[in-house]
Amino acid sequence: MKGETILSSRDLTKCVEFHGHMCPGLAIGFRAARTLMDRLSVRRSPDEELLAIVETDACGADAIQVMTGCTFGKGNFIFKNYGKHAFSLADRKRGKAIRVSLRPDAVKMDPISLSLSEKVQKDEASAEELARFRRFQKERTQKILEADAESIFKIEDISPNIPPKAMIMESETCDFCGEPTKKDLLRKINGKKACVPCAEENGPSVGLASSPCP
Ligand SMILES: [Zn+2]
Ligand SMILES: [Zn+2]
Repeated sequence: MKGETILSSRDLTKCVEFHGHMCPGLAIGFRAARTLMDRLSVRRSPDEELLAIVETDACGADAIQVMTGCTFGKGNFIFKNYGKHAFSLADRKRGKAIRVSLRPDAVKMDPISLSLSEKVQKDEASAEELARFRRFQKERTQKILEADAESIFKIEDISPNIPPKAMIMESETCDFCGEPTKKDLLRKINGKKACVPCAEENGPSVGLASSPCP
C-alpha cells in the first residue's frame, strides 16, 4: 500500500485518535502491528487469543494496542522496559509467536536533524525551525509507512513463552490501610496482611549497602 493510502486508512486513523497525534513512533508501531498480524495470519483480538509484548513505552506501543486489541487492562499486553522499538505478538491457540525489531539504520536522523530535534524538545526552536522540524517528521513518518517491512524490521519467529490467561483473583483487605487488594499481592508483616505500599512503609527495611555499589 502506498503511503498516501495508508495515511487515510481507517486503522491508522484509529491509532492517531487513540494516541493523539501522528508521529514516526506511531508509524513504527502501526507497521509493526500490521507486519506481525499479517505474518501470523490473525485478526484483531476481541478477547485474549493474542498476546502482545512491547519493549518500549514510546508512541508505537499505542498503535500495538489499537491494532491487535491486546490491551493493558485485559492483561494480554505486556510491557518490558528495554527501551527498544521491538514488538512481539503471540497466537495462544496455535502456539506461534513473532517478534519484530527496528533495524538500526531504519529511521536514523542525520546530525543536523538531530540537533533540530533537540532544540524543539528543549523549547528553543524558532517558528521557522519548528516548521522545518514538522516537515522533517512528516517525511520520516511517510517513509516508515511506505517502506518494505523487511527493510525496517528484523523479523523473527520466537518460541512463544505464553503466560496463562489473566485470572480473576479474590481480594482481601489490607490490615494497614483497609483497602481491598488482590490476594496474591498481599504480604505478611508481623502476622498482619499488608498491601505493597503498606508493606514497604511498615515492613522491616531490607539491609541495603550503606555505600553505593561500585
Ligand atoms: Zn507520538
Ligand atoms: Zn495497605
